[in-house]
Amino acid sequence: MKKERILEIKNLHACIDNISVIKGMNLQVNYGEIHAIMGKNGSGKSTLAKIIAGHPSYQITKGDILFDGETITKKDPADRSHEGIFLAFQYPVEIPGVSNIDFLRLAYNSQRKAKQERSLDPISFFELLSSKIKLIDMNENFLQRNVNEGFSGGEKKKNEILQMALLDSKLSVLDETDSGLDIDALKTISNSINLLKNDNKAIIIITHYQRILDYIRPDFIHIMQDGKIVHTGNAELAIQLEKYGYEYINSKQING
Ligand code: ADP
Ligand code: MG
Repeated sequence: MKKERILEIKNLHACIDNISVIKGMNLQVNYGEIHAIMGKNGSGKSTLAKIIAGHPSYQITKGDILFDGETITKKDPADRSHEGIFLAFQYPVEIPGVSNIDFLRLAYNSQRKAKQERSLDPISFFELLSSKIKLIDMNENFLQRNVNEGFSGGEKKKNEILQMALLDSKLSVLDETDSGLDIDALKTISNSINLLKNDNKAIIIITHYQRILDYIRPDFIHIMQDGKIVHTGNAELAIQLEKYGYEYINSKQING
């Protein structure tokens, strides 16, 4: 099967409040692939994730982002989401006064509306959601609670994966979905992500730690530094990083 490109980032430069954060980023992702992006704090990983999703605070000053071969830089976040881009936030927000199930149903039905499909009624939606919630081993009580309100760090992360499972997005960008998880939750979430992976999708995992990559094997690992990718390797790279730290990359750059 010929591999088709789902995402292409070309010489991207972006800033926030006139501070330049993304400085010449290039990335190519094909359908069926899992890419991991690693890098020190402040290297621009979350900024990149938010720019892909269309966060309005960031300005693209140069370069392009192509999704399914078309530029998306001028599209608003809702359109990007309807076209199949999903971002799991590093810091999921709490939405007091909105129950999780209402939020999920609204998101799901607005996606159906964009595809000119009929909304799902509450009962059919609940059936669909129940199948997804089992997949990630989450208690149904979380559906009646307000979105992320009082959820533990790990519960918030699971809730993001529930959204990912429900929206069935083509490109999922998971920003530090593993941070704050205990080992059981990490295994469950990794399993769910592996189950959601197929040839019609791609996943970008942003992480600090090699441990999630023990459960989800990436096709490529990229290292970000100062707003761009400075090194790309295969799954073995994470093991070297764990052993030697990011200095390993710098030594490779010096020694070739
Ligand atoms: P990472 O996710 O790799 O830790 P971020 O993308 O969160 O890094 O941040 C990259 C850089 O951009 C940091 O130096 C950060 O301080 C800066 N930055 C991000 N958002 C803002 C903002 N809203 N205002 C000012 N600087 C920001
Ligand atoms: Mg970050």
